Amino acid sequence: MAGIFDKTWQRTSLCGLFTEADAGKEVRANGWVRARRDLGGIIFIEIWDWTGPIQVVFDPSLPETSEEIHEKAASLRNEYCVAVKGKMRIRPEGTENPELKTGNIEIVVRDFLVMSKARVLPFEIGDETDSVDENIRLKYRYLDMRRDKMQKNMRTRSKINEFTRNYLSERNFVELETPMLTKATPEGARDYLVPSRVNQGCFYALPQSPQLFKQILMISGFDRYYQIARCFRDEDLRADRQPEFTQVDIEMSYIVEDDIMELIEGYMKGLFKLIRGVDIPTPFMRMPYWEAMDKYGSDKPDLRVKLELCDLADAFRNSGFEPFRKILEGGGVVRGLRLPGGASMSRKEILDLENHAIKLGTSGLANFLYKDGGLKGPLVKFLTPEEVDKVRELAGMQPDDALFIVAHASRGKACEILGTLRLELGKKREDLFDDRPDNWKFLWVTEFPLFEWSTDEKRWVAMHHPFTSPALDLETPFDEDPEHALARAYDCVLNGNEVGGGSIRIHDPEVQARLFKALGITPEDAKRRFGFFLDALSYGTPPHGGLALGVDRLVMLLCDGNSIRDVMAFPKTQKAQCLMSNAPDQVEQERLDELAIKVVKEEE
Ligand code: ASP
Repeated sequence: MAGIFDKTWQRTSLCGLFTEADAGKEVRANGWVRARRDLGGIIFIEIWDWTGPIQVVFDPSLPETSEEIHEKAASLRNEYCVAVKGKMRIRPEGTENPELKTGNIEIVVRDFLVMSKARVLPFEIGDETDSVDENIRLKYRYLDMRRDKMQKNMRTRSKINEFTRNYLSERNFVELETPMLTKATPEGARDYLVPSRVNQGCFYALPQSPQLFKQILMISGFDRYYQIARCFRDEDLRADRQPEFTQVDIEMSYIVEDDIMELIEGYMKGLFKLIRGVDIPTPFMRMPYWEAMDKYGSDKPDLRVKLELCDLADAFRNSGFEPFRKILEGGGVVRGLRLPGGASMSRKEILDLENHAIKLGTSGLANFLYKDGGLKGPLVKFLTPEEVDKVRELAGMQPDDALFIVAHASRGKACEILGTLRLELGKKREDLFDDRPDNWKFLWVTEFPLFEWSTDEKRWVAMHHPFTSPALDLETPFDEDPEHALARAYDCVLNGNEVGGGSIRIHDPEVQARLFKALGITPEDAKRRFGFFLDALSYGTPPHGGLALGVDRLVMLLCDGNSIRDVMAFPKTQKAQCLMSNAPDQVEQERLDELAIKVVKEEE
C-alpha cells in the first residue's frame, strides 16, 4: 500500500543496470512509469531512469503478485514516480526484447509505492520529442530533460567539465572565480546591468568575460589561471546565441602563442579521445587570417567543404568590362568561386543565387559556365579571348563547371559573400562536403588584423579586444598604419565553428596607452573605464596571454547536436526569455523604489 519512501523502498540498482545475474534475487527499482501494456490480464510497465528501463510484471497468476496489487497497478500512468519490490526473473522464452540492455529480465512485482503522481503530460516523453514545438519543450524543460537524449547531452557536458578541470589542474592551473557583479568589460557587446541598492544610481555590469580580472591575476602572480566562467552579453540574439553562456577561460604568464596552442591541442586530443574515442591529429594547421579569407571567405573556415575561392584580378585589370576594371583601379577586388559541375544549373537557380548574393551585400553576381567547349556568360562579350582564357585558368575551370564572381571595393566583403555561397553550395553536395561522423577539421586562424573600421562609429575598433598585443615585427608601428596592423590573436576553429579565441596581451603600459589612442579613446576616458587595470599594469606585469573556449558550442559538437540549446539545461529563447520560470519579469514597485528606478512605459 502507499506509504512513505524509506530505506525499504530504496533501489538496489539503477534500472538499466540490472543484469541476468540478478535473476532469482529480491530487488527494488525506483523510477518513472513508462510504456504500460495490458496483455490478457497481465500488466507490463517499464520503470525508467537515466540508465534505461527495467520491465516489471503484475501477473496475478503468479504467487508473488496479490490480486490487490494487480488491481492497484491498473491506476499507474506514465511518469508516475514509483518504487517497486519483487523478484527478478529471466523473461519467459519468446518475450525477450533484444533492443534493451535489460531485455532478458523482468521484475515480478510483490509490492509497489507511488511516490508521486504525474498530471496529464504536455507531450509524450520519447525521443521523437525533438519534433515537439521547442517552446513547449522549454516551458516543460524538466520533462524534456527526462528524455534519453537530453540526459546523455547533459551528462556529456558534465564529463567535459570534469575533463577540463583534471587536464588543467594536472598542469598546475589554479581555478579562481572572478566577480559576477563587476564593471563594464571590454568585449564590445552590450552589458547586462544590475542596479545597486546601496549605491543608488550606480550599476554593476555582468561580465562579458573575465578578461581584465584574469590579466590582473597574472599581475598578482597566479601564473596559470582557469575558470569555467559564465559570461553575459546583451545582444539581439542571432540564430544560435544565448545571453548567458559558458567559457573555459584561461590565462598564462611568460608564454608565447605556441604555448597556448600546444596546451589547447593537448586538451582537444584528450577530450575527443574521451568523448568520441577518436585520435585528433596534432599539431593543428595554422592559417593567417587573410589566407583564410582569401581561400575560404571566412575567418572560421569549414575545411570539410572542398571548395576554394580564387582571385580573378589579373583577368579583369585591363579588360573592357568597365565596372570590374574600375573597382580594381579603386583598390577593390574581383574574386570567384568555382562550382564543379555547376554548368548544369538552371537559369532560375542562377538567378536565385544572384539575388541571394545581392542580399548578402554585393551589387551583382557574375557567372561563367563552361559549356560546349568554352566559357559562356554575360561578360564574355566584354573580354578578349585571352582574358576569357585567363579567367578559366585562374579559376581552374574544367568542362561543366560554373564560376560565380563578386567584385567589391572591400576585399573582406567580397570574400565573405563568396564564403557564404561556398558553404551553402558545398554543403548540398555529397562529393563536395565530407560530413562523415568524426571528421573533425581543426585549425588555428592567426595574424588577425588588430583593428577593423567601424562604419557606424567612424573610427578604428579592436577586432579582438583592446588588450590584445599588436604583432611585434611590424615594419610600420601599428598606430601609424592601423589598416595593416596585425594582432597576436588566434582563434581555434573546428568544422566552421569558432570554438576558442584569445591573444597575447599588452603588458607594457606605454603600448597600452598608444593602443587606446589609436582607438580614439582619450586618456581621461581610458582612466574612467579601465583606470584600475592601467594602474595594475604599471606594477611589474609579466608577459602573458590566454584564450577562452566556448563550452556550449564544443559540447554541442561533441554531442552531435544542432543547437547549443540542446546542451544547456535551461536555455533562453531568441527574446532572451526563460519560458519555464518566466524571466525576465516585472517586480514590485517597492523594489524599484529601493533602487531609485522609474520605469517609463513605451506608449502603446
Ligand atoms: N576574453 C576573450 C573573449 O571572451 C577571450 C580571451 O581573449 O581570452 O572572447
